Amino acid sequence: MKCSKFLSELNDFLDGSLDSSLKAELEEHLTWCHNCHVVCNTTKKTIEIYRENQVYELPDTLRVKLQTAIITKCKSSKSKD
Ligand SMILES: [Zn+2]
Repeated sequence: MKCSKFLSELNDFLDGSLDSSLKAELEEHLTWCHNCHVVCNTTKKTIEIYRENQVYELPDTLRVKLQTAIITKCKSSKSKD
């Protein structure tokens, strides 16, 4: 699974609405991809904060920011190989 795919499924993953096979793929990605692990944790915390305020949806602007940051990071780390 690519980081871009992971990030596109992240909201549903955290929401618990993914089917089990896809969920397993995302969990597998998290075991080796530190960047996505960080984004996942950050997003989870953000969602928890919003839930406390009775707002569930992660703002698009924040999601796009996270996605852009992670994809840039992944690309730059790959180019070092
Ligand atoms: Zn990743």
